[in-house]
Amino acid sequence: GKILVTGANGYIAVWIVKSLLEAGFAVRGTVRSESKATYLRSYFKSFGDKFEVVVVSDITKEDMFAEWVKDVDAIAHTASPFHLNSVEPDEMIVPAVQGTLSVLKAAEAHGQNVKRIVVLSSTAAVQLPGEKPGVFDESAWNEASVAEVKEKGRDASPSAKYCASKTLAERAAWDWWLERKDKVPFDLTVLNPPFVFGPNIHDVKKPEEMGTSMLMWYNYVVKGAASNETLANDGATFVDVRDIAEAHTRAFKTPAAGGQRFIICAGSYKYQEFVSAAHRWSNKLPAGNTSYDPSKAVYMISHDNRKGVETLGMKYHTIDETTRDSLEDFKARGWL
Ligand code: NDP
Repeated sequence: GKILVTGANGYIAVWIVKSLLEAGFAVRGTVRSESKATYLRSYFKSFGDKFEVVVVSDITKEDMFAEWVKDVDAIAHTASPFHLNSVEPDEMIVPAVQGTLSVLKAAEAHGQNVKRIVVLSSTAAVQLPGEKPGVFDESAWNEASVAEVKEKGRDASPSAKYCASKTLAERAAWDWWLERKDKVPFDLTVLNPPFVFGPNIHDVKKPEEMGTSMLMWYNYVVKGAASNETLANDGATFVDVRDIAEAHTRAFKTPAAGGQRFIICAGSYKYQEFVSAAHRWSNKLPAGNTSYDPSKAVYMISHDNRKGVETLGMKYHTIDETTRDSLEDFKARGWL
């Protein structure tokens, strides 16, 4: 089968494309401009005509997908703004929500063969850490960020704007599909990863060009940019980029994944645990907070990942593995 991947040049998306190609699928990736296609064509050239890239300059325009959904069997929608520099909420929310809806609508109108659409959401749409430690599963929805943005508008935090965009986009996808599921030939699967860390295979030439999650990881782990206090107390849940990619391939291969939402998460962490893992890998890297005791750590948020393990057969990289492979990647790029 052939799968359309939107935002194919992104940090996570290039790993998704790789996983799909290696599993035997043909892939058509979309990017926003021709300049972003060149790297991908060269990176995946060994797959010959099983990989192609097309330009969709504005994902909020359903018509722009019309031609590209015609002959595909499934779609992975990953294109969505992920940064913490937004001013107007709509900068984040409009492309997230309208982008998702235009993929669904284009599939309905022109995608005769589309059987499944997998939307890459986030645990930002599930739940953020609160005042007390909590464990959350797929039944939770992050209403708090939506409320914050509704109340404060452009004065809401950039993080709330991003989280609201993910909640509203995922909700829009479910509302749209649930209303039409008996009429459209495709079903919907949503994957909700937390912070995604791990090596880069997309087009990055310097650390500042990395995605939001990995740049933060690099600043904390390699650059020693966080205080001891932050390293011991800050953290959330994480997943290795290769595991969220694998989850996409499994979502396309698993009939029972249809109509389901899956948290794709390895576990909870404090940043010091990555710093310690990096320091074990090379004692030239910062030791960080040497008084941190993982056995006494209180994780403010945990995600129940059982559904993904049971239905998709997910297995997860550990903190040590993700750290080692990220550092090997940085080393190969001359960044250490
Ligand atoms: P990247 O920034 O590397 O990739 C984002 C992709 O979305 C790029 O292809 C980018 O295109 C595209 N995009 C961004 N804004 C727009 C827009 N306004 N219109 C069209 N396309 C746009 O980020 P990630 O790979 O980290 O993120 C990919 C997805 O995964 C996002 O949906 C994000 O919310 C989600 N996610 C990421 C997590 C993480 O920790 N990294 C955690 C949980 C979810 P271009 O290069 O042209 O800007």
